[in-house]
Amino acid sequence: MHELAVAQSMMAVVMENAAANNAKKITRIELVVGKLAGVVPDALRFCFETLKEETIAKDAALIIHEVAATAHCATCNLEREVGLYDYFCPTCEGPVFPKGGDELNVKDIEIE
Ligand SMILES: [Zn+2]
Repeated sequence: MHELAVAQSMMAVVMENAAANNAKKITRIELVVGKLAGVVPDALRFCFETLKEETIAKDAALIIHEVAATAHCATCNLEREVGLYDYFCPTCEGPVFPKGGDELNVKDIEIE
């Protein structure tokens, strides 16, 4: 499962960060997941909940921020949210290029 590998590498980042700050406990983990990153937030959450069980993060609240991709149409100046397969502007049918939405990282952690 793709989400498991993602959760494992994110967990490694969290643990590294916690160790560097001499954390005894992790109370909150915030993740950023772009809508075009190819990760299902619910599946990622499930993997994370499983992985954190035997760690100092076992009681941590997990917050997932979903980030949409936006695209700007150079032809008619429209700025809008886009999906994975939106390559053309809905207004003028000119080509658009998605910007962002592929984020996949640890935004913040809170430790004790
Ligand atoms: Zn347009």
